[in-house]
Amino acid sequence: MGPPGAGKGTQGELLANRLGIPRYSTGDILRQALRDRTPMGLEAKRNMHAGELVHDEVILGIIGEVLAHEESEAGFLLDGFPRTVAQAVGLRKLLLERGLRLDAIVDLSVPDDEIMRRLSTRGRKDDLQETIRRRLEVYEAKKKPLLDWYENSGVRVMSVQGVGDIDHIQADILEQLAL
Ligand code: ADP
Repeated sequence: MGPPGAGKGTQGELLANRLGIPRYSTGDILRQALRDRTPMGLEAKRNMHAGELVHDEVILGIIGEVLAHEESEAGFLLDGFPRTVAQAVGLRKLLLERGLRLDAIVDLSVPDDEIMRRLSTRGRKDDLQETIRRRLEVYEAKKKPLLDWYENSGVRVMSVQGVGDIDHIQADILEQLAL
């Protein structure tokens, strides 16, 4: 987890490649659904463009599907999910049903001014100043309850600074994961 623009995609891709496991990004899956004009994509569109979260049931539907993939059996990395306590509760149920557990959560932190700088030069459709601000607000509002919930449920939360050299950040993640 981490705010928009923290580098979850970049670091997640490096880590998943290194571990030889699939990476599932709810943001990427939603954007693809939008490009394909599927009913889910069209339903999610308004919320995504406003910087709001997409409904928990829609997101949990996506995760239920990806966890059922055969390639997920040897492990997987989730990027941008869970973002709410309801999603975390839903994930716990899905994992229990499959006899799986979470090894760790990587909490990637980046200061707000750096986020604004990064996102205002990225140019994705939801990277307009106002939408960025809203996504940051939403992230901040959901972050603490989610981290508290995970800390209470005994899942390891690793804190990593997402500023500086990409390779150094990855090395930090690997070191904390003890890989
Ligand atoms: P970012 O974290 O940079 O905002 P993402 O690609 O992770 O970008 O997500 C883009 C948008 O997709 C979010 O603003 C939100 O509308 C939707 N989204 C992605 N993941 C979730 C999720 N787990 N729960 C709710 N909405 C989500």
